[in-house]
Amino acid sequence: MAAFDSQHDPVRRLTRIELIARLSDAIGPRAVLHRREELLLYEYDGSALDMAEPDVVVVPGSTADVATAVRIAGEAGWPIIARGAGTGLSGGSVPALGGVVVSLARLNRIVHIDPENRLAVVQPGVVNADLSVAAAHYGLHFAPDPSSQKSSTIGGNAAENAGGPHCLKYGVTTNHVIAATIVLSDGSIVRLGSEAPDAPGYDLLGAFVGSEGTLGIVTELTVRLTPDPEDVRTFLAIYDDLEPAADSVSAIIAAGIVPAALEMLEGEGIRVIEESVHAGYPTDAEAVLLIEIDGLRDDLDEQAGRIEAICRACGARDLHTARDEAQRARLWAGRKGALAACGRIRPHYHIQDGVVPRSRLTEVLRLTKDVAARYNLVIVNIFHAGDGNLHPLLLFDLREPGVLDRAMAAGEEILYACVAAGGTISGEHGIGLEKRDYMTWIYDPDDICAMLELRAAFDPYNVMNPCKQLPTGASCGDVKHARGAQRAIAAGAWV
Ligand SMILES: Cc1cc2nc3c(=O)[nH]c(=O)nc-3n(C[C@H](O)[C@H](O)[C@H](O)COP(=O)(O)OP(=O)(O)OC[C@H]3O[C@@H](n4cnc5c(N)ncnc54)[C@H](O)[C@@H]3O)c2cc1C
Repeated sequence: MAAFDSQHDPVRRLTRIELIARLSDAIGPRAVLHRREELLLYEYDGSALDMAEPDVVVVPGSTADVATAVRIAGEAGWPIIARGAGTGLSGGSVPALGGVVVSLARLNRIVHIDPENRLAVVQPGVVNADLSVAAAHYGLHFAPDPSSQKSSTIGGNAAENAGGPHCLKYGVTTNHVIAATIVLSDGSIVRLGSEAPDAPGYDLLGAFVGSEGTLGIVTELTVRLTPDPEDVRTFLAIYDDLEPAADSVSAIIAAGIVPAALEMLEGEGIRVIEESVHAGYPTDAEAVLLIEIDGLRDDLDEQAGRIEAICRACGARDLHTARDEAQRARLWAGRKGALAACGRIRPHYHIQDGVVPRSRLTEVLRLTKDVAARYNLVIVNIFHAGDGNLHPLLLFDLREPGVLDRAMAAGEEILYACVAAGGTISGEHGIGLEKRDYMTWIYDPDDICAMLELRAAFDPYNVMNPCKQLPTGASCGDVKHARGAQRAIAAGAWV
């Protein structure tokens, strides 16, 4: 868990009571929550380990009201924290220093679907899966599909640059957001990107997507919609060991096939999902790959044959093909319900989000086993194998004394091993509170300073989501001072 650095707490020029009064006058008392029992609901996110209570929550119903609330809070030096559905897994929407949480829950309208140009204009509080349901009528969908897609919002997806199983082929959220309306900390409203194919000038929208609420609050997005494929095939390749499964992942991509999705589940995870979701996974397997290909019907038979041959050559003991849409949906329900299912093993979790080159998967997966034994923890691996994006799920029961410290140390060791293997510290869950101090593993102080300067250009009041993403909310001077704290990075690491 991160220590919140209160020395970077901005100076507050209104008392809490004055702030509540100003906000209530400006956007209406019903949009301002300040009673303890109301605030408690906003003190955590999906990671559920870092918690902090906000001073006020505002629930504005328009971009203008977001801008008004942000201007009042920003001018008065109160921290401002955007919140979508709160499913984030790195503490991004936790109000580390208190302050004003801006919930986007009421901005939940699909404003417009433009099938001709394959675009949609949406408010940030639209739930990811709802957009695909609405676009299905036109044979279109929103391609980024985080496993949380039934609850996470498109604003939160953009802020985290969310990925998902089908992002292997279709690209992560940044590839699907083409324009956005943003409220900055002084209450100004800016438009980034364009509906034209390429906007001239600096790619500020590119900088904004993935900025975790530290640059501003998005109040409207224009996103690409992707045509539904003509046909889809889904396979479950079954293995008695990890290594041949990991080898199959590299071999499929090396053969020039880019599946729509290539997910891996191993050991204990397979069994607990099966008990909970009845997805049709073999409970005696040590690893399974959930592989999906899509595209033109005529191409799929040939690709399916090649995938089967590769998996068997690598050591798969069997390969099943989903018979129909119902069976395909069951296989995916298992994968997407994995995190919830693991609650059967232990009630609490710490999920990591390291990335490694595909060729190093086996080695890092083996290390997670070793770490689990040394720290006496249950660790389950269910992850986006095609992207090399590992999600070791460290499971424990907080009632056991000292277990949280062990879990955090074990998570850190695994993440560092990902970096040492030439990988990085986040594939999709963002940095948030949880990993901001690890940014110095992969970035040099000059890089961090450049990012702080970009942040200051967007956020002149230094109030947007403090303590998140970068190791300090203060200044370049502090980062340079901390230069000695940097850890060595393996040659060839992605920085
Ligand atoms: C079961 C489960 C499965 C998951 N699977 C995946 C997965 O497959 N892929 C993946 O990428 N993630 C996954 N996640 C993590 C999480 O769902 C994503 O990070 C998601 O994008 C967060 O969306 P949210 O609406 O819940 O945002 P929140 O958790 O509310 O916020 C996340 C961050 O975005 C900022 N933010 C939110 N809204 C805005 C806005 N309008 N403007 C500016 N900043 C904003 C917040 O300040 C915070 O920093 C999973 C989480 C769970 C619980």
